[in-house]
Amino acid sequence: MRITPLGAAGGVTGSCYLVECGPSRVLVDCGMFQGEPEADARNLECTGINPAALDAVVLTHAHLDHCGRLPILVKCDGVCGIAGGFKQKIWATPATVDLTRIILLDSANIQEADAERENLQRERSGEPGQVQPLYTVADAERTMELFAPLELTTKQEIAPGITIQFHESGHILGSASVSMTLRHAGVEKVVVFSGDVGPLNTPLLRDFQHIGEVIESADLVFCESTYGDRDHRGLDQTVEEFRGILEKTAWEKKKVLIPSFAVGRAQQIMYHIAELHNSGRCPRVPVYLDSPMASKATELYRTHSYLLDKYAKATGFGGDFTKLLPELTILNTVAESRVLNDSWDPGIIIASSGMCEGGRIVHHLKHNLWKKGVAIVLVGYMGSGTLGRKLVDGAREVFIQRTRIAVRANIHTLGGFSAHAGQTDLLHWLNSLATKRRQPRIALTHGEDMPRKALAGKIADRWRINAELPMRGNAIEL
Ligand SMILES: [Zn+2]
Repeated sequence: MRITPLGAAGGVTGSCYLVECGPSRVLVDCGMFQGEPEADARNLECTGINPAALDAVVLTHAHLDHCGRLPILVKCDGVCGIAGGFKQKIWATPATVDLTRIILLDSANIQEADAERENLQRERSGEPGQVQPLYTVADAERTMELFAPLELTTKQEIAPGITIQFHESGHILGSASVSMTLRHAGVEKVVVFSGDVGPLNTPLLRDFQHIGEVIESADLVFCESTYGDRDHRGLDQTVEEFRGILEKTAWEKKKVLIPSFAVGRAQQIMYHIAELHNSGRCPRVPVYLDSPMASKATELYRTHSYLLDKYAKATGFGGDFTKLLPELTILNTVAESRVLNDSWDPGIIIASSGMCEGGRIVHHLKHNLWKKGVAIVLVGYMGSGTLGRKLVDGAREVFIQRTRIAVRANIHTLGGFSAHAGQTDLLHWLNSLATKRRQPRIALTHGEDMPRKALAGKIADRWRINAELPMRGNAIEL
């Protein structure tokens, strides 16, 4: 029995593990590499394994860095010397199946548009040859046909000798950790994959499940370590700062722009605004969700309202944001979005992309960054080189669609809305497994070197376990 991390080992993107148990082979996640200099090349490498020889894939959640290479696995057309793609089942929770459809189709559309733009440029400059998209909408659709929904806590054999069970991980709608039982030649081992773990006590979604309370023990635990070296600023303080910004701009009758990821963050922000409005802690103003992808994702909170936490359930909103937040308008067409561009009326606009690199937020920024009193609230991570990062870094002017725009709006960065557990909550997640009489081996993945070393230090102090820090391709034998 052998498990090999094929991504997000020594980095945070491209999550993928190959599990080998006797003759059976399965993958856990098959995510896209993003942002790193070698990302494009690594995405093209397929997975370094033979997709046709895999018995199954298990997907922990719908984020692109966990599911984004699935269509490459499925279409595998022999570019890497391996012909014949993956044709077996992809196991995921029902909400993950629905969210992954939105995310993969969006990703495929972007891949196609990027390739088309690149080819047009080549043609104009007389450069020979054409580039192919990483995958197409048709590839993404074929991938979706392979999905098999599996409810949380239901046990399922997915390949000879390999049984899995999903456990709530509290990260995004449908997200799960996986416990996997491997049986071969009379030996049985249990491996746990954390997937991405959410922070405790955030609104809307349930907290992660303490897996040690449902399984007897584990032999090996893979734990994410994105924020293994620190805790986030308290959510209460962050919401209070957010309230102050909303109140001030409402009194001054100015706009608030919130660039946001379409899945997860946008819904969390709407939930906080609803709480502030409904408790009378801040004046009611119109709220606009201006992202087709976010509006599709928002609809899934109603379909899968059983995943909401007990407080969200107690409000009786059942995942219906328009009921919870009567001031909310969900904009779908470009024409509706343009009307907002031309208006000086107060209101809160939530639009993607999260890092301000594309999508409708770019137009809203172009029309508002130069206006005094407007508030831009940055609620997510901004990669280096992005327009969002320039705003965080205090740029006095920026270029948007080749137009120079002065930055006169107030820029606020709120760092407390993370969907990832900080150090204390990661240790909580590990606690129920690490305190068993038979302690597991622990391997830390999905983190840069600093955070995972810091978390390894805490694990050694607390449970006297020397956590392993595998790099991509380093197999762990059981
Ligand atoms: Zn994630």
